[in-house]
Amino acid sequence: MYGYGFGYWRFDWTYMLLVIGMLLSLAASGRVKSTFARFKRVRSASGLTGAMAAQRILRSAGITDVQVVHIQGSLTDHYDPRTKRLALSDEVFGSDSLAAVGVAAHECGHAIQHATGYGPLELRSAIVPAANIGANLSWPLFVAGLIFSIQPLLTVGIVLFSLAVLFQLVTLPVEINASSRALRNLESLGILGDHELSGARKVLSAAALTYVAALASSILQLLRLLILAGGRRRDD
Ligand SMILES: [Zn+2]
Repeated sequence: MYGYGFGYWRFDWTYMLLVIGMLLSLAASGRVKSTFARFKRVRSASGLTGAMAAQRILRSAGITDVQVVHIQGSLTDHYDPRTKRLALSDEVFGSDSLAAVGVAAHECGHAIQHATGYGPLELRSAIVPAANIGANLSWPLFVAGLIFSIQPLLTVGIVLFSLAVLFQLVTLPVEINASSRALRNLESLGILGDHELSGARKVLSAAALTYVAALASSILQLLRLLILAGGRRRDD
């Protein structure tokens, strides 16, 4: 592929980079699903549901303007800083499982990051628009650059894609920090006991791995763009 203009097809081995990235992401999402499935069957001794645990954590952090709401779907939990809504999914909102309480506490971690002006979260919010533009425009521009042999288009495509990679990179500390806040709060507020914490930790670690996989996958894609652009330059 992208042997355009040469009059023959040649195998593009850089596809392997995409395949590796895809396999990493699949493995990580499979792992988070199986870990969640395992710990959604273990009920917490306190009997607090995800929603109740979230309310307790937010209150103890002095946060009174965040609304805890129920959202459809599985693993769709998130905190929206614009609306200050902490959305918990079907299996989290009303469940008292270790998985539910762990995920709810993680989303509270994001709400606390927002309330306290945690730097990496602010940086991430600031680069969202640029990262979205980068993710959408980088490929069309890059492919156009390859087809029409326009070097500046290749460069712009690579720079735009780098913004999307940067977003994934900044996401990592934000997610890991939210999970460590979650575990600290679950422990200090006595929501989970010592032996229960390890279950919640496993769920959150599996979730963190999906962000590592996403970052690795986008770095591999960036590498592929660089290799394709480099090959193009040599062919010119
Ligand atoms: Zn998160």
